Amino acid sequence: MKIGFVGTGTMGQPMLSNLLKKGHGVVAYDVVAAMLDGAVGRGASRAGSAAEAAKQSELVITMLPSSSHVETAYLGGGGILEGAPSGRLCIDMSTIDPGASRRVAEAAKKRGVRFVDAPVSGGVPRAEDGTLAIMVGGEARDVEEAKPVLACMGANIIHVGPVGSGEVAKICNNLIAGVAAVAVSEAFRIAEGFGVDAKVLTEVISKSSGNTWVMEHMHPVPGLVGKAPANRDYAPGFMTDLMAKDLGLAVSAARDLRVPVFVSPAAQQVLRLASSHGLGRKDFSVVYEFLRPSSRQAPV
Ligand code: NAD
Repeated sequence: MKIGFVGTGTMGQPMLSNLLKKGHGVVAYDVVAAMLDGAVGRGASRAGSAAEAAKQSELVITMLPSSSHVETAYLGGGGILEGAPSGRLCIDMSTIDPGASRRVAEAAKKRGVRFVDAPVSGGVPRAEDGTLAIMVGGEARDVEEAKPVLACMGANIIHVGPVGSGEVAKICNNLIAGVAAVAVSEAFRIAEGFGVDAKVLTEVISKSSGNTWVMEHMHPVPGLVGKAPANRDYAPGFMTDLMAKDLGLAVSAARDLRVPVFVSPAAQQVLRLASSHGLGRKDFSVVYEFLRPSSRQAPV
């Protein structure tokens, strides 16, 4: 199948590589020339706009940073809905506001274009291995049609419900992961203050009730977990700014639903502050670096 791929950044590139490996053709587009060059280097052909990528392909995938980028890529001038013929299936794999997914799906439907949301979990290593977890929102027929293509990029593909539901599952998951990242960093700073060895504490927690995926895979203390971003000066991985965005999506959904939330806004603000101090494009486990003890000196 010839697949249009719009948004060939950190995640998009390894994902489209897996489509190519499984024998699909990919026609790629990105607004940043260097990112598009990266996709072409991996074997994709080059489109001049999102509309062109949609016109030249049989199915469209988008992997973009946030809601506004997705709305621009679909609804804007030179966007996907300009190029996609009636009946075309589009799969948005970005993490965005479920409301934005529904708005784009609605606009697509008016043109006879089908839309499913299919955000992913697992980060760059699992994007490279083709073992992402993919949570899908859309009509059953569209999801069934999307599944063989999604299976080239992911190992666990779960149909959550109607359009937007994949995004709901994703922001709920990242709420937990984002809060856990801050909690793990706080815990290891306290242990450090008492002189407790981080390796021994990791062993204890991994066998206790505080164990969490974030500690197992993205341990914030360098040198303790094989592929953790901390071992590479916190090169992402998953950027602090993207995690702050995802916690923001959870917080704003909670506000709309009038659900009280306390720990997710706190974790979001810690990540935002880390970003204000220049750590926004580092992996979110860098929050450990940011949470250093304050000075012991008395105020003067
Ligand atoms: P990224 O910023 O590296 O890549 C996004 C790409 O989209 C960029 O190359 C950008 O130039 C391009 N883009 C922006 N607007 C565009 C437009 N209108 N038309 C065409 N291209 C456009 O981001 P990423 O890390 O690849 O993440 C993409 C999405 O996946 C985000 O929603 C993120 O939250 C989610 N996600 C990321 C990870 C991760 O580990 N990086 C994991 C799970 C989910």
